[in-house]
Amino acid sequence: MAILVAGGAGYIGSHMVDRLIEKGQDVVVVDNLSTGHKAAIHEKARFYQGDTRDKAFLSSVFEKEKIDGVIHMDAFSLVGESMTDPLKYFDNNIYGMIVLLEVMKEQGVKYMVFSSTAATYGEPENELIAESDKQEPINPYGESKLAMERMIRWADEAYGIKFVALRYFNAAGAKADGSIGEDHHPETHLIPIILQVAAGQRDELQIFGDDYKTPDGTNVRDYVHVLDLADAHMLALEYLQAGNPSQAFNLGSSTGFSNKQMLEAARKVTGKSIPAKIAPRRGGDPDSLVADSQKARKVLGWQPQYDDVEDIIRTAWAWKQSHPQGYGDK
Ligand code: NAD
Ligand code: UDP
Repeated sequence: MAILVAGGAGYIGSHMVDRLIEKGQDVVVVDNLSTGHKAAIHEKARFYQGDTRDKAFLSSVFEKEKIDGVIHMDAFSLVGESMTDPLKYFDNNIYGMIVLLEVMKEQGVKYMVFSSTAATYGEPENELIAESDKQEPINPYGESKLAMERMIRWADEAYGIKFVALRYFNAAGAKADGSIGEDHHPETHLIPIILQVAAGQRDELQIFGDDYKTPDGTNVRDYVHVLDLADAHMLALEYLQAGNPSQAFNLGSSTGFSNKQMLEAARKVTGKSIPAKIAPRRGGDPDSLVADSQKARKVLGWQPQYDDVEDIIRTAWAWKQSHPQGYGDK
């Protein structure tokens, strides 16, 4: 039986596939390469290029392969872009989920591990966000992911599709050997942008706003290593296969770093000066997003290997240095 990774050519998906194959799993990847890279997909995974909104295509993959569970990572995920083009997000993310659930229902596939996000919480009510805190997204990306979470819950009630929604905070870093990593076009994420400046590919970092309600005025985020995320998915699949009930888990480090602190950490790791200036706010950014991720540790037995943000940045820097142009295909 195989695990289907939808979005397995993407940043987190490629690490997910790599980790599953390392653990001896049979892996099928579906991806339309809209933001992913063919070169990022492990050679032992069976790759089907196509769009998850294309029901005929998706059904044909399920008919050819014996899929035991689905890891759903295919989505658009840029907060800023979602503010200016919300319908693009509702179409790809929500409609894609409808089609995937329909095909799972028709083919009798019972498990889904879903990439949800801290963006479903909106402006948090507590310093450390718990899974039971209110979910009131302040951007269309988070809104689309919340709708998807809710949709799977009803699909569970009606069709018995069991799910774990993993609400990641900020995915970061790369496989330690530098063979796969983060390569988005255009790049909008903080760490890769800082490292582009460190590598001399960009003149300066623009820090989006320093008047937020945080100790130094810049946004605070919780960074979690991409391979630790991958491990949590494998534990979540085992949890579902053992017959446990559907639920959501936060995945984070429970420690927040401001954008200015991240810049300082990257200066230390790279030894580069990394020029930066304060720029206007980007729309849709909550002040601070830091996880209470005790539940994943207790219930799933998740034990993140990377607990130091400098170590996380070091792996991203190794990827940047070995692949200055990323995969070089876009
Ligand atoms: P990514 O853009 O690198 O990966 C997404 C992959 O899905 C890409 O390979 C893309 O080509 C594919 N894809 C998108 N729409 C598709 C469609 N309709 N059909 C087929 N393939 C499609 O993004 P990522 O950073 O790896 O994020 C992966 C998942 O994790 C997303 O669902 C995202 O919402 C979620 N997430 C990411 C973060 C983060 O910090 N990067 C945080 C929280 C949640
Ligand atoms: N950020 C920034 N400059 C950049 C890119 C990002 O100041 O060039 C900030 C962004 O506003 C947010 C934080 O860095 O406060 C993390 O943003 P990212 O896009 O990496 O992840 P998000 O939190 O949106 O998922």
